[in-house]
Amino acid sequence: SKKTQKRVWKKQDVSTTLPTRGAFSHKGKHGKGLVIGGAVAMPGSIAMTSRAALRAGAGLLTVATVQENITALASTVVEATYTTLPSEGGYISDIGSVDFSYDAIAMGMGMGRHTGAETILQVALEQTQGILLIDADGLYALKGILSSLKGRHNPTILTPHPGEMATLLNVSIPELLHQPFAYSKAFAEEFQAYIVLKGAFTIITTPQGNQWVTVTGNPGMAKGGSGDVLAGILLAMVMQSQSLERALCNGTWIHGYTADLLVQHQHSTYDLLASDVIEGLAQTYRALS
Ligand code: AMP
Ligand code: MG
Repeated sequence: SKKTQKRVWKKQDVSTTLPTRGAFSHKGKHGKGLVIGGAVAMPGSIAMTSRAALRAGAGLLTVATVQENITALASTVVEATYTTLPSEGGYISDIGSVDFSYDAIAMGMGMGRHTGAETILQVALEQTQGILLIDADGLYALKGILSSLKGRHNPTILTPHPGEMATLLNVSIPELLHQPFAYSKAFAEEFQAYIVLKGAFTIITTPQGNQWVTVTGNPGMAKGGSGDVLAGILLAMVMQSQSLERALCNGTWIHGYTADLLVQHQHSTYDLLASDVIEGLAQTYRALS
C-alpha cells in the first residue's frame, strides 16, 4: 500500500503555517462561515461554537438556529448575523431557507438527536458548496446516511469523540481505542473525509490517509462544551486556509494549547470552562506572534 505520513504536529509547525493577517487585509479575506445547530434546550453549544470561530479569526459569521433562541443568542454573540429557522418540538424542523454559499459550514452542535435530524443533514450534505464540518448530534444523524459522504465534491470534516466514532463504525469504544490510527485511516479513505478523532491526544486523518497527532490539552477540557469550542476554532481555520490538513492540525493544537496556558497561569483543571478557552485564545495568538 501507499506510504503515508504519521507524526506529531508541534508549536513550530503552527507558527510556520498559520496564515498571516496582512496589513491591508479585510473581512472578506478571512472567510465567510455558517454555524447550523442548536435546539431550544441547547442554546449554549452554538453560542460557544460561534464565539470561538470569531475569536479564532473568522472574517464573517452567520448562525442558523431555532427561532426561539435567536434573541438571546444575538445578544451573546453580537458580531454574528442570524438566520432564523423554524422549529418543531424544540428542534430545527427545516433548513430550506438557508443560503449554503459559504466558504465553510459547521453543523450539528446542540442540534439534538431527533428523527428529523437525518433529513436536515442530508439537505446540508447535498446543498453545501464549500467545506462541511459535522460534529456532535450531526454525527449521530450521519450514521444512517454515511454513504452520501462518498458522492460529495467538496471536503467533509468529521470531528467525533471516541463514543461518536465508535457508533459510526459499529465497534465498541475499547476496540476503537485499541487501534485508533488504523480505524481512522480506514474510515477516512473509505468515505473520503477528514477525520478529527478527539481525546487526550487528537488524531487528524486526511482522505489520502495522512495522519497527524496533536498532544496539547489537559483534563480541564473533559467537560461539556469543549468540543463545541473546537468546532468553532476549526471552522475559522478552514475558512481561511489553503490547506485543510494544516488548518485542522493548527486548530486542534491551538485549542489544547490555550487550555494548557490557562491551567498553568489562571485556572486549574477543576474549574476551567470551555468558554474560558475561547477568551484564552488571545494568549495563544500572542504567544505565536
Ligand atoms: P467533546 O467530547 O466533543 O466535548 O470534545 C472534547 C474536547 O476536549 C476535544 O477537543 C478533546 O480533545 C478535548 N479533551 C477532552 N478531554 C481531554 C483530556 N483529558 N486531555 C486533552 N484534551 C481533552
Ligand atoms: Mg462534542
